[in-house]
Amino acid sequence: MSRTKVIGMLGGMSWESSAEYYRLANEIVRARLGGLHSARIVLASVDFAEIERLQAISHWEEAARLLAGIAKELEVAGADLLILCTNTMHEVADQVQAAVSIPLLHLVDVTAAAVIRAGMGTIGLLGTAFTMEQDFYRNRLAGHGLRVLVPEEDDRAEVHRVIYDELCQGIVREESRAVYRAVIGRLVESGAEGVVLGCTEIELLISDADSPIPLFPTTRLHVEAAVDAALEGVDMPAAKGDHTRQAPTLAG
Ligand code: GLU
Repeated sequence: MSRTKVIGMLGGMSWESSAEYYRLANEIVRARLGGLHSARIVLASVDFAEIERLQAISHWEEAARLLAGIAKELEVAGADLLILCTNTMHEVADQVQAAVSIPLLHLVDVTAAAVIRAGMGTIGLLGTAFTMEQDFYRNRLAGHGLRVLVPEEDDRAEVHRVIYDELCQGIVREESRAVYRAVIGRLVESGAEGVVLGCTEIELLISDADSPIPLFPTTRLHVEAAVDAALEGVDMPAAKGDHTRQAPTLAG
């Protein structure tokens, strides 16, 4: 059987969601290849406090240099493809891609493809203030022909606060789930057909049961696309669950 490609994960933003990336990639590979198969991964994990400080003071170029340097290290470590495990830091995706010769699987393109496959044209977007308010994310979705709705200012502030003060610190609160449900309700009233969970921690808080319209969880979608790319050209097992093992031969 040919070997799967190595997924380079640039994570730690925050590690709460990178742990999901790691778990999901391995679960999906096991589901597809069976038995003891698992994903081939190199993972680099940053100190998120350093990245958050650069975001807060709008030093995006410095953040870009930092992440581009780590992307190069992942390539040297054997990554065949790269994923940046955060929506927000796709702000600097072009600089990260320019630093390496392996392909960066862009989270927004993967998400847009899923929305289009679902036959939707108008989508609500939840994420950090950077993701909801700056051009890099909405314009890229719009470039795929999608109309993007973001919450009103107060709702955006609350969605952003919950991400940094709670979810990125491993805190999942019922009150915050209620806030997100209410925000999703207002997006539905504004005409959203689906909602992009455009922050890799939101799916730790919100699931399909919290929304009357379909959700697009970016961590799961991004991982599925990365595994698709990693398994391209790999022979699939004849029958799923075929994990016939040979008894080991005892030497001597
Ligand atoms: N993981 C989050 C995202 O997907 C927020 C953390 C960050 O700012 O990178 O946007």
